[in-house]
Amino acid sequence: MISDNLQKVMQEIQNSCALVSRQAAEVELIAVTKSVTTREMLELYHLGVTNFAENRADVLLEKQKELASYPGIIWHFIGNLQRRKVKDIINEIDYFHALDSYKLAKEIQKRAMKKIRCFVEVNVSGEESKHGFQPNEVLAFIQSIQDFDKIEVVGLMMMAPYDSTTEEQIALFTQLAELKETVEKAAYKKAPCHQLSMGMSNDFSQAIQAGATQIRIGTSLFKE
Ligand SMILES: *Cc1c(COP(=O)(O)O)cnc(C)c1O
Repeated sequence: MISDNLQKVMQEIQNSCALVSRQAAEVELIAVTKSVTTREMLELYHLGVTNFAENRADVLLEKQKELASYPGIIWHFIGNLQRRKVKDIINEIDYFHALDSYKLAKEIQKRAMKKIRCFVEVNVSGEESKHGFQPNEVLAFIQSIQDFDKIEVVGLMMMAPYDSTTEEQIALFTQLAELKETVEKAAYKKAPCHQLSMGMSNDFSQAIQAGATQIRIGTSLFKE
């Protein structure tokens, strides 16, 4: 049941925060709804969850249409975004979690009609299959988009390798947290970079312990 699942996730957020003396209110739950329909989304909505994330542009737009009469929904795009899809989606979302190239930033700058809140995706583990900048490229990238008035870098985003151990997860998440501090200290006008989008169903406790402010949870909320 979704309500039981949600309760368990909220409890684990609480417990993980308590381990490192953080407040649960510092961690925002984003429901990753790519595997469910608007029926399940509405069930969560009525339980108070208003942050929804999708990884396909056409699906997000379709669901947005179906849920148009429900106020207060915050839409996150978390997937790899092809440049030719930018114009379809970028003005319809509240947060974009996967800014992973200069070319994509350029396309967003060209198509956006408002300032877009973006997370820069970082490939902390260095896996070849993963998108994102290498950690040592991030500052130069942010520097390179300082003239892009349509992009606000609100934070950094990562995914840990699925098969890593708890210790490895904490080490990788901590690396991103340190990189975030470096960017914060650089104090770029267009990159306040106070947020960390990291942690999924199998590793969000470790992500919270390392400082996550946004966790992206699908399976744990919707499993039978
Ligand atoms: C699917 C997905 C998630 C959620 O993963 P679960 O393991 O189902 O919680 C989080 N982030 C991204 C980028 C995803 O694609």
